[in-house]
Amino acid sequence: MLVAFFLVAILLERSLAADLEAERDQRLLEQARGAGDWVSSTRHPNRVAGRLAQVVQSEVVIFDRDNCVVGTSVPDADPLSDGGPCTAPSEVLDARSFGRGLAERVRAGDRTHYVAIPSSDGLVVRLARSSRDIEGPLGDMRLRLAIAMVAALVLGLGLALLASRLVARPLRAMALEASRIAQGDYAPNFPELPRDEFGQLAEVLSALAKTLKTDLERIGKLELTRRDFVANVTHELRTPVAAIQGCAETLINGTLDREQQLHFMQLLHKHAQRIHALVEGLLQLSKIEAEPRSDVPHEPVEVFVVAANVVETMSAKAGARGMKLENAVPPGLSIHGDETRLEQVLENLVENAIKYGRENGAVRLAVDADDKRVVLTVSDDGPGIEAVHLPRIFERFYRIDAGRSRDRGGAGLGLAIVKHLVESMGGDISVTSENGTSFALAFPREPASSAGPASRGRKVAS
Ligand code: ADP
Repeated sequence: MLVAFFLVAILLERSLAADLEAERDQRLLEQARGAGDWVSSTRHPNRVAGRLAQVVQSEVVIFDRDNCVVGTSVPDADPLSDGGPCTAPSEVLDARSFGRGLAERVRAGDRTHYVAIPSSDGLVVRLARSSRDIEGPLGDMRLRLAIAMVAALVLGLGLALLASRLVARPLRAMALEASRIAQGDYAPNFPELPRDEFGQLAEVLSALAKTLKTDLERIGKLELTRRDFVANVTHELRTPVAAIQGCAETLINGTLDREQQLHFMQLLHKHAQRIHALVEGLLQLSKIEAEPRSDVPHEPVEVFVVAANVVETMSAKAGARGMKLENAVPPGLSIHGDETRLEQVLENLVENAIKYGRENGAVRLAVDADDKRVVLTVSDDGPGIEAVHLPRIFERFYRIDAGRSRDRGGAGLGLAIVKHLVESMGGDISVTSENGTSFALAFPREPASSAGPASRGRKVAS
């Protein structure tokens, strides 16, 4: 602002000074012409010069045809000629040659303007005026400009201060909220701002806080899961390890007969098997979790073939509990997935049904399908699962009756593995329990046309 004002002031001053000078020269010229007319009609130029000077408020000097001063209002500066040869100043000569003459000279430290005009009989009238006439108004103008400049500066500074305050307020509020976020408060309270850059910034910060909050919650949950997991594994290991230790000590120290030794060795074997089952289950879980979805094969799988295989594999176990294992899956239905995984899933569910179902009861594999989906069910007629347990049954290490499950060799990982496997194939698992338990697996259906002759061939073969 200061620089701009300064430049404007200089320009104004210059142009005003030039205007004033031009105007003064013009006026002097007009006055000189008037004076010329007057001088031509007089015989006493010196007297006329004095009177004229009073009228036009300027110095008046009259030169004759020999360039000698014949009339003057300032005898000190331009004395009357004493008859000797005279020399005329340039403006007088110009007046004779060009009809008018202008000049500017410093006289006694004063800038003086001269204007000369020819009159009759070879006379020339010259008017002179000091620049001080102009300096007065110019000085006034400079003062006014300076005052205006100071006033504008003060006003400008005030406005700038106000504007910066207006800008600073939302920024300060945002900085405060941002520091709250930094201190762990993820529900910042940003002021209501218009949809300008500040408003957008506040929105972004607020969204950032929300994302941070969610992420931290997720990390917190993960950490909790990890701690639970370590605690669960430790807990699961403690019992069989203690049992193995006890059995081993008894075998080493005790004086046991052959039959007692055999009993303890069987116990050792059972607990070692439990540890083995746990380790296997954990390895399998971590393997499934580590495998990217895209690596899971997605091909047509004939459900009947898989169900038949499972029934064959598990029939001995079912027989041991006097249970009937029934395959009610019709041939000709295919899902989109991986055969090995589907077989593992069904095996696991059938094994559970045999383990927890009714002795001498029945386990049934059935299917229900529409255009898009194939729903496979594994049902038993056992005591079922209480409703409170149903939502948590697929969690790792979740067992309803830990004692009974352990007796049957379970580590509580089977259903967690099953759920992972089903989901890795894009399927969905659910459980209902009324008059026995029924697990339902829903998979995307493979269209009959793309099942291809190969799978149909297999169907026939089975
Ligand atoms: P486990 O290794 O204990 O069998 P799972 O994850 O396979 O672990 O099963 C979790 C729990 O769900 C079991 O401990 C059992 O109590 C219950 N469960 C699973 N299947 C059945 C079923 N068909 N009938 C009744 N209870 C079942």
